[in-house]
Amino acid sequence: MPITSFHDDLPSKRPGPEGLKHDGNSVFGTTLVDWLAATNEPREPKEREYIRPSDALSCARKVSYVANGTAGTEMEPSGMWNVTLGNNIHQMMGEATKAAYPDAQVEVQFDTTISIGDVDVPVVSYVDAFIPSLGLVTDFKSIGGFGYKMAIGERGTPQGAKPEHLIQAGIGALLCGASKVSVTYISKEAISIAVANRKGFSETERFCAEWTVDLDDIRPQVEAEILRLWGINRLWHDEHTLASRKVPGIPVEISAPRDGSYVQKEIDPNTGIEIVLATGSYWGCNYCSYQQVCISDGGGRVTK
Ligand code: SF4
Repeated sequence: MPITSFHDDLPSKRPGPEGLKHDGNSVFGTTLVDWLAATNEPREPKEREYIRPSDALSCARKVSYVANGTAGTEMEPSGMWNVTLGNNIHQMMGEATKAAYPDAQVEVQFDTTISIGDVDVPVVSYVDAFIPSLGLVTDFKSIGGFGYKMAIGERGTPQGAKPEHLIQAGIGALLCGASKVSVTYISKEAISIAVANRKGFSETERFCAEWTVDLDDIRPQVEAEILRLWGINRLWHDEHTLASRKVPGIPVEISAPRDGSYVQKEIDPNTGIEIVLATGSYWGCNYCSYQQVCISDGGGRVTK
């Protein structure tokens, strides 16, 4: 029988005016957190006399801690959740790539040396996917919905793949002898149908996009970054000195790792008075597992 009049006694999609609060005691959240803790073994800290491409464009001080084997703070459950999701996404992408390209190699491991000029740099790495028939290396990056939207241009100009991801993939291309470098972003949340229609994104682009460049176009930056990482590594192993808290692209050292803030100052040549040119804050400090040790070690180069 058709419903012909308004019935507020029927089930509704909207909660009542007082909302619906979640349970105070979680059954499945606790279960998940316990499982994550049991399946994510903490990494053993160890000294490294090699560079890792995943450190591309990282804070120099952080690279020092990686070199000297400083133990970072343990990962929180939210971090384990993120890493586990990322691992599963990588596994899916690897299987999909091998199914589509029979010659594809996934999770290619390297423990080798890259020569740049007369400098031999030890590198330990693994490359997410190398497809010899396409001369292409890619790095898979699982990414949150907001970051993906910014990258693909859901709001404003597309920001594209992050430079550190392209450099990391570029090092992988050097290792594999590939001529093309790509970064593939896989979003953990799809862009809405309405926005995709408005912006002209395909169904695939709602959650997956890639950026490809010729290795030769970024080779100078890739090689410069390899040498920077190696220089920081040697600074520790040859001189027992930690690098200062410099982040590529930020003009001055991070002054307060507690919140990542920095202040760029200059002496006015006319008045001799110190003036502030710029202030800002580096988001990475809040996610850095070395934040506490970095605070206690202090700024500048630190010899131990
Ligand atoms: S806390 Fe910030 S400045 Fe210190 S090592 Fe980490 S990223 Fe670098």
